[in-house]
Amino acid sequence: MSESKTVVILGGGLGGVVAATVLRKKLPDNHRVIVVDREPDHLFAPSLLWFMAGLRTARDIVRPLSRLEKKGIEVVYGEIEAIDPEARRVRIGPGSNGSSPGETTSGGRTLDADYLIVSLGADLAPETIPGLADAGQTFYTMAGAASLHDTLENFDGGKIVVLTATPAYKCPAAPYEAAMLLNEQANKRGVGDRTQVDLYAAEPGPMGVTGPEVSAGVRQMVEGQGIGFHPEHQVTAVDPEARRISFSNGVEADFDVLAYVPPHRAPNVVRDSGLVDESGWIPVDRNTLDTRFPGVYAIGDITGILLKMGKPLPMAGVFAEGQAEVVARNIAREITGKGDPASFDGNGGCFIEVGGGKAGFGRGDFYADPTPQIKLHGVGRRWHIAKILFEKTWFRRWL
Ligand SMILES: Cc1cc2nc3c(=O)[nH]c(=O)nc-3n(C[C@H](O)[C@H](O)[C@H](O)COP(=O)(O)OP(=O)(O)OC[C@H]3O[C@@H](n4cnc5c(N)ncnc54)[C@H](O)[C@@H]3O)c2cc1C
Repeated sequence: MSESKTVVILGGGLGGVVAATVLRKKLPDNHRVIVVDREPDHLFAPSLLWFMAGLRTARDIVRPLSRLEKKGIEVVYGEIEAIDPEARRVRIGPGSNGSSPGETTSGGRTLDADYLIVSLGADLAPETIPGLADAGQTFYTMAGAASLHDTLENFDGGKIVVLTATPAYKCPAAPYEAAMLLNEQANKRGVGDRTQVDLYAAEPGPMGVTGPEVSAGVRQMVEGQGIGFHPEHQVTAVDPEARRISFSNGVEADFDVLAYVPPHRAPNVVRDSGLVDESGWIPVDRNTLDTRFPGVYAIGDITGILLKMGKPLPMAGVFAEGQAEVVARNIAREITGKGDPASFDGNGGCFIEVGGGKAGFGRGDFYADPTPQIKLHGVGRRWHIAKILFEKTWFRRWL
């Protein structure tokens, strides 16, 4: 039996639970697999839009991370306060609820790793736009999606604005889907005839990395529902009293309900660790997810992978999942000497919910040279069903 190794996975989100589960399956019991997260629950964020629309309850879209313990994975609940990638050492404080449940868990301690996987995602920073957080609600968090749901329950018609505060954010389809689902909700409530939904985007078009055809296709889906689309509108401030958004091009827009995608940035603890570069994200080998520190890997939203076209690989759960499997297999191979080397190939896809139980689907090779080769499959019921299966399979496979 080989000498005991410890793999520490920072973050029990989409990338973290996959990495932990694959490693646990592949490693003999004398090796430790540890997941650290500040939250006791794992959130399946792709279902947040359904939650906002009242099609899921909170219980439907979260699972306790403690389920991993049944598989032999140790879970530490705590705030990761410092990462030393050279020493592969992390300092952990108390978790979000101040407690540290479970036998194998504790707050306020140091963990040393033979292998470190950083899967801490992107932090949301609405406070960087004056007035945004006070004026609006974001469907990018459980609390924000719940509050939007409550707002919609009492909505009697008016102006709904969906806003992207920066051009790059996780799941580039999400605000476009949100606009269509909010439109559907207004229609379902019988107030569609006195409701106008507008989408003000910081970016030039939907899902720009996927190419002009896919982008135009998604724009058509949105505009086909009578939703106003206003690209290249960079918000500078929001006035919560007047319910007015100001943009850098001098345009102003009024709203009754503001549903927004906040600016993203790497968590402070990662920015302070020396792992990020000038992009603000962790540079990695695009196939193996190695960082510049031996034995330290980064996966998911926290990574900055520049595509051949010069834009970053979009942040998406499908990529976090694929990268997690690759890193886990390669670490297991290094420890056990078994298995083939794995490589992340940049393939992935994403559903675009349009409401009415229908969705489109874009899929392809994001690493293709010179530009990603993505095909958009037209709107239909089968893609909506495929997204339901994606959610069900996620929980069955990983939690
Ligand atoms: C509304 C919405 C819809 C989406 N739809 C889709 C979709 O349809 N398809 C798709 O592929 N992707 C979708 N995504 C994107 C997807 O959810 C993310 O890309 C994915 O979650 C990234 O995984 P990750 O492991 O990198 O980060 P996350 O899943 O965000 O996990 C990061 C974890 O780190 C923890 N953490 C962070 N900092 C600390 C700290 N200092 N100490 C302790 N713990 C910490 C967090 O609590 C979290 O659990 C969507 C996202 C949103 C918001």
